[in-house]
Amino acid sequence: MPKTISKHFLWAAYGLIPLLLLSACASAPVTGRKQLLLISEDQAIAASEPAYFEMLKKPAQEGKLDNDPDLKARVQAISGRIIAQAIRIRPETTDWQWSIHVIDDPEIVNAWAMAGGRMALYSGLVQKIHPSDDELAQVLGHEIAHALAKHTAEKMSVALATDLALTVWAVTERRSQLALTGASLAAALAIQLPNSRRAESEADRIGIELAARAGYDPRAAVTLWQKMKKAGGGKMPEFLSTHPAPETRIENLRKLIPEMLPYYEAPGERPVYRFKPEAERLPGLKRSKAQKSDREGDAHEPKK
Ligand SMILES: [Zn+2]
Repeated sequence: MPKTISKHFLWAAYGLIPLLLLSACASAPVTGRKQLLLISEDQAIAASEPAYFEMLKKPAQEGKLDNDPDLKARVQAISGRIIAQAIRIRPETTDWQWSIHVIDDPEIVNAWAMAGGRMALYSGLVQKIHPSDDELAQVLGHEIAHALAKHTAEKMSVALATDLALTVWAVTERRSQLALTGASLAAALAIQLPNSRRAESEADRIGIELAARAGYDPRAAVTLWQKMKKAGGGKMPEFLSTHPAPETRIENLRKLIPEMLPYYEAPGERPVYRFKPEAERLPGLKRSKAQKSDREGDAHEPKK
């Protein structure tokens, strides 16, 4: 029903016009890059919550969420260490509802993060890329960096400032599957739109540092992207279709390695963020059998 939906969008756009007048300049963490945020981070976080539940509704109903307890535990263990580093950079993000769900789809090589640290990883990324922990840490570090650097708010701002209706039209495929309106729909769409090149290299830069500080080898950033490049053969993995060409980023990441190695090689235990059980909950969603048996106990603990 394109008509109804585009009408919703127009309303959303009109409703958000007053926000444009309150536009604010912010600085991205670590890089200090100036960002024009027409939507505040708090607004982006509030809009992302229903968007997150909506995005996960279909996989949850189809029993395609967190079905592999070992993979879920692995992903949580790695992101837990990286999130602890993110919180060191921005202490207020300790109040976020950091969470990560694994969507069971062997064909999709992708991962995403919304404002406020709500993330998802597709099982296809693991099945097709076979990343080592160090390589998986680069993917998760990159996504956590997007959240940390307010990229959802930035992308939503750009979508509103340019042409929301046109932006919406560009993602026709997913549009009708989402029962969302207004800012939450913009938040859901934001993760499906390509990031700007600057936001991407910023997420690479912050991500490799977070991962290195969390104890993951920065050299894996290069091998990860080489694997990504190879994985598709002629076809591009989805992660690449929403991300810029790998050659330049491989080179840029390679140049960062000497600066990152001391963080990686620094002695001492790395702190681990403990996910809040309430952040893991998906209100109103049926859980699959595998989730039920896993989630009653410690989510970090793989079930045999
Ligand atoms: Zn990215």
